[in-house]
Order: sequence, then C-alpha cells, then structure tokens
Amino acid sequence: PTQSAYNYPLLLKRLLLSGGRYEPNREIVYRDQMRYNYSTLKERICRLANLLVKAGVKPGDAVGVMEWDSHRYLECMFAIPMIGAIIHTVNIRLSPDQVLYTMNHADDTLVLVNDEFLPIIEGIHDQLKTVTNYVLLSDNKNAAVPDKLPFIGEYEQLLAEADSHYDFPDFDENSVATTFYTTGTTGNPKGVYFTHRQLVLHSLVIAQALGTLSGHDLMKSSDVYMPITPMFHVHGWGVPYAATMLGAKQVYPGRYEPEMLLKLYMTEKVSFSHCVPTIMFMIVQAAKANNIKFDNWKVLIGGSALPKGLAVAAREVGIHLNGAYGMSETCPLLAVAYLNDELQALNPDEQLNYRIKTGIPSALVDLEVMDENGKLLPHDGKSVGEIVCRTPWLTQGYFKEPEKSEDLWQGGWLHTGDMATIDELGFVQICDRMKDIIKTGGEWISSLDLENLLSQHSAIAEAAVVGIPDDRWGERPFAMLVLEKDQTATAETIKQHLQTYVDTGEINKWAIPDRIEFVEAIPKTSVGKIDKKKIRADIQ
Ligand code: ADP
Repeated sequence: PTQSAYNYPLLLKRLLLSGGRYEPNREIVYRDQMRYNYSTLKERICRLANLLVKAGVKPGDAVGVMEWDSHRYLECMFAIPMIGAIIHTVNIRLSPDQVLYTMNHADDTLVLVNDEFLPIIEGIHDQLKTVTNYVLLSDNKNAAVPDKLPFIGEYEQLLAEADSHYDFPDFDENSVATTFYTTGTTGNPKGVYFTHRQLVLHSLVIAQALGTLSGHDLMKSSDVYMPITPMFHVHGWGVPYAATMLGAKQVYPGRYEPEMLLKLYMTEKVSFSHCVPTIMFMIVQAAKANNIKFDNWKVLIGGSALPKGLAVAAREVGIHLNGAYGMSETCPLLAVAYLNDELQALNPDEQLNYRIKTGIPSALVDLEVMDENGKLLPHDGKSVGEIVCRTPWLTQGYFKEPEKSEDLWQGGWLHTGDMATIDELGFVQICDRMKDIIKTGGEWISSLDLENLLSQHSAIAEAAVVGIPDDRWGERPFAMLVLEKDQTATAETIKQHLQTYVDTGEINKWAIPDRIEFVEAIPKTSVGKIDKKKIRADIQ
C-alpha cells in the first residue's frame, strides 16, 4: 500500500465526517434563533470555506473570530482550519488594548465579528496592522454592514451566495489549526497554538474520558451538549470538536444569560455541560431562588478547584458535578475525576469526595509531581511538587516568545506552575498555584483548601482566600466571603467553623485567617475565575 493508505494525515475534517455519518439528523441549535442538522452543518462549512477562499484567505493565514458561543463559531472552528488557515479565537473579554495586541500579534488577516463587538473594532481598526477585511456576524439577517470599515458582507447572506460544495484537501497534519491567548493576568497575553494532529488526538481522548469509561458517562453521543465555557477560551475545552465527532446534539447559548441558559436547558433537554465553579455558583443560586430542580444535569467543572460546598449545593438542585483539570497551554485536557468500580460502591457522600478531586490523568497523558531539583515525587498523597506533564497535545511554546517558552518547557516536561500531590489511587490533587500558595511563618497554606472548608459553612455561598503581606509572618491568609441570601455570619463564627477543622487535625491553627471580609461579589477574571491578583491589589 502507499503510505497514505495507512498513514493519512489526522485532520479536523475527519471529526466532522464521523459525526454526520452516525447521526445526520441530530441537531445543532442556536438560542431560539436557529436549528439545523449535521448534514446542513457540513454544507454550511463548505459554503464558509468557499467564502473564506474567495475573501483571499490562504493556508497559514490567521483568521480572527469575535463571537459569543454559536453555530457560527462551530462552523468557523472547522472551516477555517480545514482550508489550511488558522482560527484565532479572540478573547473578547480582554480590554480593547489587549484585544488589539492579540490580533496584531497573531497577524489576523480576515476577522469575523459579531455586531456587538463593532464598537471595539471601530476603536482599534486604525491600529490593526494586518487585518484587510471583515465579515459581520449578526442575529439579525437584515443587519446593515457598516460602511466605514472594509466589510465584505454579512455572514448569512455571504453563505447563501457561496457554493455548497468544497473538496477539503489533505495536507500536513502538523499544520497549526488554532491559536488563542492566555488571559494574561501579568503582562501581555501569551499566544498558544495547536495543530490538526493535536486536536484530533485530543478529541479522541476527550470523548473517551467523558463518555466511554465505565460508570463515567458524562457525555455520550445521545447526550445533549451545551457549553458554558466560552468557545474563545481553549476551544470550549475542545468539547465542541469531540461532540461533533460523536454526532451529539449541540446547543449554543450565545452570550451567557441565566434565563436563556435555563430556557435552553428545558426546551432542548440539555444533559451535559462544562463550566468554571463561579458560573456554576450563579446557576445554583438562581435555581435556589426560583425553586428550579434539574433532572440530573451532568456538568464537568474545571479551570479552578471544585469546592465541596458547591458540589453539595448543586446536588440539592439536581446537578451532578465532576472535577477536571487542564490549562490553556495543554489544549486543555489533562485529568478528569474518575470513580472506578471500588469507589462507585461507596455511599454517595463518600463518592463526592472523589468526584471533586482534580482528577486521574487521562489516556495518553503522562503527569507527575516534581520537586525543585527536578526529582519526580512518590504517589503517596503527601509529597507536594509541581505538576509536570507530557501528552501529544501540548502547545509547542508561546507564539513568537522563545524566552517565555523556555520557562514552560524544562527537561522535556511542560511545567504547569501548579502544586499538587498524587495519591496511591492515582488521583491528582492540586493544593494551589505556586503564586497563590500562602507562606506564613515558614509554613505553607493552601488557599484552595481553605476555600473548600469555608464553602462547607451553611451561610457561605462563595469564598476566596489570598495571602497578604505581614511584617511578622511574611504572609497571612485573608478571606473574602459572599453570604447566602438571608443568611448571616460574623468573622467570629467563621473562625469558629474553621476551628472545628483545626480540632480534627485537617488544618493548622495558623491557617485561620486574621482578616475576614464580607462582600457582595468576588472579583473575577475575563473567563470568570476568582481574580486573586485583583483581590491582593485592592486590599493593599
Ligand atoms: P488562567 O491562568 O488565566 O486561569 P487557564 O484557563 O489556562 O488560564 O488556567 C489554568 C489554570 O487553572 C491551571 O494552571 C490551574 O492553576 C487552574 N486549574 C484548572 N483546573 C483546576 C482544578 N481542577 N483545580 C485547581 N486548579 C485548576
């Protein structure tokens, strides 16, 4: 046989072909605006490819997308890489200056932009060095294209005019398919990038980790999938690619609005989603306030540690949470909490203690904890070191930033900056990010541990803990708390709650924060995580 008969390139088009083959009639739904099946998805992706080529997009060009989660985004995630170009999923929650920085840094040529973000584009267009054209994305089919900027036209109209047939070529599987920027808590955002081969392998393992492992059916082909992690952030954790490969029904909620999310959950019978803990916290609060019960909605939680209090509160309203771990640099999948036969025999409460863990490394993921001398530490549940990993889907570096890439990659491992233990069962448990760990009087305190314990107090809805400078101890923990509606607590009662964990030996007495503040809301980053940098800056 010729080499291509058994070693053809692993390209994203393979995922698209697979889903449609199984379930041509399953639907892709966008809010209450649009619904079509997998056959139409494929046809629209062909039309989009023709549109892009006609607009002058060449293999290797970067195409920016500024959009909320939609069927259009899904079409772009396939069509742009499938013609050999690179989709830059622009983080529209960054400041306009940072959006400008990322679009210039990525060398975007064509940009598809939702009309909600036109004010940003109008403000930065003159400073965009490589952008030549725009396409307007709008929920309004008759939307007028702004005449001041070089717009080719409106997406739906352009698709209708484009040819419905496109023969997607084979090319090198190591071609870059996607790029996006880390949320840039310090300095400029850094660009990461992933190839077709990486995304195909990642999708296979996402599907396996979420679906086919025994007793772990978070997302199967028959599930109804709705993301609640934006598609601009790590390709919606790569799940849209995996869901398409499986031929699952997909529901895209646009901009995240609680009423729309709830409406779609009910009308479309959503059964699987993923989000960060802060978003789940809002959903649980809304459900409690409106007396809503979900029908065993399975939600994968990642991006930050999953506090036990949140998992318990979610369970009370019918949401089943499961922890996972990853980061922008890792595509993102590294680990998902997984309960084997023995653990599933435990009672539901004991099971929960495992469901909220960081996870078991997924297939094809080598993951270890390493001390500061580069020695790999034992899996004893006690030895704390930095998580290092290897898998075939890690970014090869930061785009155009060789020095920063060297810090990321040392000794053949990607260094995550996360401190963790691995136990005898293989569970990884993150204690903290290196930069968030609280160093007090020569001892280390995990801010995540404290948040987890605080979340179990009945009056506390949400908790954030940071270290603040202290003359005597170096640092001391500071807790910022949001109370449950109609509940009261004082700094004293909170300290008493933590004292019970001191009594049982779970934490040391110096872990009890000196300062506790009650607030309406905890500051969040552009992707909705607790913004510890801002909390530290505001407090001083
Ligand atoms: P950012 O650094 O802006 O949050 P990422 O989305 O790449 O951007 O975040 C990755 C980081 O999120 C990880 O390095 C880790 O610190 C944290 N994280 C992700 N999943 C978990 C988890 N299950 N438990 C604790 N922390 C997590």
